[in-house]
Amino acid sequence: MPHPLPQFDLPRQANEKCGVVAIWGEQSPARHAFLAHFALQHRGQESAGLCTTDGRTIERAVGMGLVSQAITPSDIERLDAHATQRAQTNSIRKPGGAIGHNRYSTTGPSAAANAQPLVGHYRGGPVALAHNGNLVNAVQLRKSLEARGHAFATTSDTEVMLALMAAASQERETDALAEALQQVTGAFCVVLLHQDRVEAARDPHGWRPLAIGKMPSGNYVVASETVALDVLGAEFVREVEPGEIVTISDDGIASRRFADVAPRRAHCVFEHVYFASPASKIFGQTVQTVREQLGAKMAEEAPVEADLVMPMPDSGRSAATGYARQSGLPYREGIIPNRYVGRTFIKPTDEERAAAVRVKLNIVGDVVRGKRVVIVDDSIVRGTTTKIKMDQVRAAGAKEVHLRISCPPIRYPCYFGVDFADPKELIATGRGVEHIRAQLGVDSLHFLSIDGLLAVAACDEVTGEHFCTACYSGEYRIPVDPELRKNAMAAKC
Ligand code: AMP
Repeated sequence: MPHPLPQFDLPRQANEKCGVVAIWGEQSPARHAFLAHFALQHRGQESAGLCTTDGRTIERAVGMGLVSQAITPSDIERLDAHATQRAQTNSIRKPGGAIGHNRYSTTGPSAAANAQPLVGHYRGGPVALAHNGNLVNAVQLRKSLEARGHAFATTSDTEVMLALMAAASQERETDALAEALQQVTGAFCVVLLHQDRVEAARDPHGWRPLAIGKMPSGNYVVASETVALDVLGAEFVREVEPGEIVTISDDGIASRRFADVAPRRAHCVFEHVYFASPASKIFGQTVQTVREQLGAKMAEEAPVEADLVMPMPDSGRSAATGYARQSGLPYREGIIPNRYVGRTFIKPTDEERAAAVRVKLNIVGDVVRGKRVVIVDDSIVRGTTTKIKMDQVRAAGAKEVHLRISCPPIRYPCYFGVDFADPKELIATGRGVEHIRAQLGVDSLHFLSIDGLLAVAACDEVTGEHFCTACYSGEYRIPVDPELRKNAMAAKC
């Protein structure tokens, strides 16, 4: 019987936009990794986990929710005590290292079994692995590994990588990680914890960011974003190169390649638009600066006679600053978020969602009443929350509402780690801007053009040529399973 295809949903949801950290040789490595994950909380709020080694075994703590809920103080104490064991045995003076992960998923099963890091075993000993990104050939690899007798414990494509390492090293000494990574395709930043080192690797296209930092002690750390290095007091050294494996051990830092850098890289432009922290430097550029410039670009592309520019908090703030500066219009905060309403408040039905958004945001009537308002946000996905917010601003007495979005319409699914809605649910799928404007009930609407986006998100060495814009254009840098593409196109019509 043929295997039912889009099994894809399971692994896809298991490895959405996530944050990873690896540190070696530092006292209290679990506490350091925990702090780093606080800084990466925006990359995943669904679950978090940490692992340490004492030079022989791997200890693990995982839980659901925010890092502070998932990892308890006693978990950190237990993991650090375990790492310290290493420094107390033999003549080794350094404690072992730690890796960590926080996971994000807007939909799909919230299973503790899928919380990372995952722990496995291969010829080299026990190993823990954490993954940010999404593999596009995990289903095929899983099937072929299962046919060879491998039993999987989770639905996560991360486990496929562990299984590939075990399979590669089953009969001979080999660079199991390099061999495993040569077989997987898609987006991945991975960190691994072994008995005597941590490793970090990035896919040849460089889809997701991964930064190397140096601690004041001279030890090295790797994290998804530079904000995590900042909280540790680590100095940014460089990014892990696409196709590179970095090893951090008692001997310092070493590098090897498992693949060449792809001729056309595929940095995710949506990291700059929405996902990464504005305080991070990714793909060679500071996110805040990029977002401000995107706002300025929009003011050039779509100027409008208005009284003020207002950000949609918090996602539109940086771009709104740029729009206001470029247009010369005053910047006012008129939409106030309630910081204590978390993501868990988001409900499945439209009605419940509307109620949640109303509780989440208050409009300052005095700011908007009788005014022509430009509202700036980073993106529209389904359009449901945007519509509610626009209605709220209108109800508060705004005379005109002009919406400016600092990226093009999202029309295609992302197979590389960003969890957009099903294409059927995307407001821009199969609809033009005028249709969307009418649906949102605003006076004017502009989405930043792809050219405008790429004119900004590109520094000297990294031109726009090296960004993946598939969610806007449908042009994928690597082949995607035809079945998956067919589904996406069907949804478009
Ligand atoms: P909506 O109007 O329902 O499409 O929501 C748009 C808002 O969702 C914008 O303010 C974005 O900042 C935010 N957003 C964009 N992408 C995502 C994502 N992948 N997950 C959660 N929120 C997102």
